[in-house]
Amino acid sequence: MKHIIILGDGMADHPIEKLGGKTLLQYANTPYMDMLARQGKTGRLITVPDGFLPGSEVANTAIMGYDLNQVYEGRGPLEAASIGYEMAPEDMAIRCNIITLEDGKILTHNGGNLSTENGDILIKYLNEKLGDDQIRFITGIQYRHLLVIKYASKHVVCAPPHDHPNEEWKPLLVKPEEGWENVHEPVIGRNGQPTGKLRMTAQETADILNYLILKSQELLSEHPFNQKKIAHGERPANSIWPWSGGYRPNMQTLMQLYPQVKSGSCISAVDLIRGIGHYAGLDIIKVPGATGLADTNYEGKAQAAIEALRHQDFVYLHLEATDEAGHDGDLELKVKAIQYLDHRIVEPIYKEVSTWDEPVCIAILPDHPTPVEIRTHVKEAVPFLIWYPGIEADSVESYNEVSCVRGAYGLLQLQEFMNTFMKID
Ligand SMILES: [Zn+2]
Repeated sequence: MKHIIILGDGMADHPIEKLGGKTLLQYANTPYMDMLARQGKTGRLITVPDGFLPGSEVANTAIMGYDLNQVYEGRGPLEAASIGYEMAPEDMAIRCNIITLEDGKILTHNGGNLSTENGDILIKYLNEKLGDDQIRFITGIQYRHLLVIKYASKHVVCAPPHDHPNEEWKPLLVKPEEGWENVHEPVIGRNGQPTGKLRMTAQETADILNYLILKSQELLSEHPFNQKKIAHGERPANSIWPWSGGYRPNMQTLMQLYPQVKSGSCISAVDLIRGIGHYAGLDIIKVPGATGLADTNYEGKAQAAIEALRHQDFVYLHLEATDEAGHDGDLELKVKAIQYLDHRIVEPIYKEVSTWDEPVCIAILPDHPTPVEIRTHVKEAVPFLIWYPGIEADSVESYNEVSCVRGAYGLLQLQEFMNTFMKID
């Protein structure tokens, strides 16, 4: 049996008065997901462990079968993988925003909507001026870049800049995590054993990061790109802001965890999800026109999944559009994105793989709800369905938050989903 997980990011929602008390999944016209729920088995899943916020990187890692307490290293290492930077054991990789400061405050977390092209110019300039054998700035996407420091400690407290708009930046500078100020943590090698080398302390790391922040402000304000911006009365991109750092995740590949998987692919427009896929040992398929928005290339993603399944055993197909519509609070757009997922992804994949000699097991679920009335992720169980040719159906007739409460799988926790799914053979 081959396996495919189709994930609608943030797809689950709450009952909406305007929809007659229905959730969006209940309201939307989703004949294929409903059919698979009717013919298959359903349940609910808790995707976010205690002590974690319901971030997509957290929930998707749990759905893929990993224990967050063992493997979670923050955004930096996932984005490093997505960019194509292969982390060494001694590296500490940290997200490096380019932001806009004004009058001592954080004006925007995105450097005035910096483009990737201009971000690349500024990051290369910073790397030339501040980079060395130990410190490296690497271009990412738009305002979201990467800073890698060898032998740095991840035990530092950083402020995510999008959480602190219009706040003074000086009190938000990097601090050592309590208890780690003077600790030299050992570097762990790829075999899970200490390499005999030690990291710098958290205090030393915080000092370097703060030095780089202050130096970047001097350098960026002098740069012709920003001089021009200021002359035109536009917002300059005038400071780096590092946050969410970590080491290379200690993740076994899915092939090691589930021997029935010989090879697999991850299809997503989102760099964090691609990063998880990379460390899980999956091929990262980049589909042209996959945007992460409602106008994404649905057909292209479905075809890429079908092609991958022809010669591989496992596909993780992630669709971001549902989450984005939830963040925008756009009810109509989210309903549309759910219907597109059903009609333009689930339908073609089901129609193709259900004719194959080698059966394909399909799972569909969100990673967390992003309710349109709340406009951010919430930590609640999500509905899932599992279907394969010949599966014995449960009594659930449609796929949504309410019907799946009665599903035969009941309420699963975290890795139980992947373990249950991969056991189907
Ligand atoms: Zn998500």
